[in-house]
Amino acid sequence: MDTGMKKKAIGMDIGGTNLRVAVISEDGEVMHKIKEPVTEDVLGAVILAVEKLGTDGIEGIGIGVAGLIDKNTGRVIISPNLHAVEKYDLVRGINDRFGLPVLIENDANAAAFGESWAGAGRGFSNFFLFTLGTGIGGGIIYEKKLLRVSAEVGHMSISAEGGKCPCGNSGCLESYASARAILSEAVSVLEAGRESVLRDYCSGNFYKLTAEDIFRAALDGDTLARDLLKNAGRYLGIGIANIINLMGPEAVILSGGLIGAWDIYVQEAIRESSRRAFRELFERVKILPALLRDDAGIIGSAGLVFEKLAHGS
Ligand SMILES: [Zn+2]
Repeated sequence: MDTGMKKKAIGMDIGGTNLRVAVISEDGEVMHKIKEPVTEDVLGAVILAVEKLGTDGIEGIGIGVAGLIDKNTGRVIISPNLHAVEKYDLVRGINDRFGLPVLIENDANAAAFGESWAGAGRGFSNFFLFTLGTGIGGGIIYEKKLLRVSAEVGHMSISAEGGKCPCGNSGCLESYASARAILSEAVSVLEAGRESVLRDYCSGNFYKLTAEDIFRAALDGDTLARDLLKNAGRYLGIGIANIINLMGPEAVILSGGLIGAWDIYVQEAIRESSRRAFRELFERVKILPALLRDDAGIIGSAGLVFEKLAHGS
C-alpha cells in the first residue's frame, strides 16, 4: 500500500526535558519523528515542533504528558516533574493554532494504548503496563480499551514507613523501585563507605552515577550494584502482586529504561510477585517487556486520535 494513501495523525510525548513529536500512520507506524527541548513556554515549544513536522493531511493531534489530567477540561492538574505545563490549556492552544482535533492523555496511559494497538499488548484484552524510569507510571487496558483513570501505580503505598514522596505520601512504590530511588540509595550507601566498583565509575562524585552505571556494575558482578537492583526489584514485585490481585490481568507489560536490568531487577520482581499474588492469578499472567520502547507514548497518543475519530469516544 502506498504510504501516501494512509491516514496520519501527530502523536507527542511531553517529558521533563524533551518533547518528542511524530507523524504516525493509521496502522501505528512512525513515519517522521523529531525531538526538541522542552522550554518554560511549553505551548510555544509544542506549536513550533508541530510546525516543523507540518500538518498537511494530518487528521488530529494527540498529546501524552506526565501528570494528572482533568478529563473534562483537558487541562493538566498537576505534573510533579513539569510544573510549567500546568499553566497552559494545551488542547485549546493547539486547536486554535492548527484547527485540528486535539486530545490529551497521561503519558503512561498513552503508552499502554500504544502497546495495545501496535506493541507487546496486541494479543491481550486486559493488561497492566508499568513505565519504569526516573519515576513509575501505569496504564490499564481493559477489554481492549484504555481505562481513562489515573492509574498512578508509582504512588501506590508499599510501606507504612519510608521516605516522603513529592506527591505528599510516604512509602510510595516509586520511592523504592524507580531509577531515582536506586540512585539515591546508591549515593547514601557509598557515602556511608561501602566498597563498590561504582566508586571508580564516577571518580568519587556519587551524584554523577546513572542507572546504566548500576546495570554495568551489576553485570560485572559488583555486589552493591546487584543488591541495589534486587532490593528495588523486590519492591516492584510487591507492586506487581498488588496489581495481579486487583485486576487478574492476562499480562503485565514492563516498559522504560529500567527493563535494561531485566535479568536482575525484573527477575527479582517476578520472584517476589510469585510469592505474594494469588497462585491461580499468577499462573495465568504473562510478565513481559514492552516492544515500542520510547515510541509507545507517541504511537499511543496518535492511536487515541484515530480511535476517537472512528468511534467518537
Ligand atoms: Zn508518591
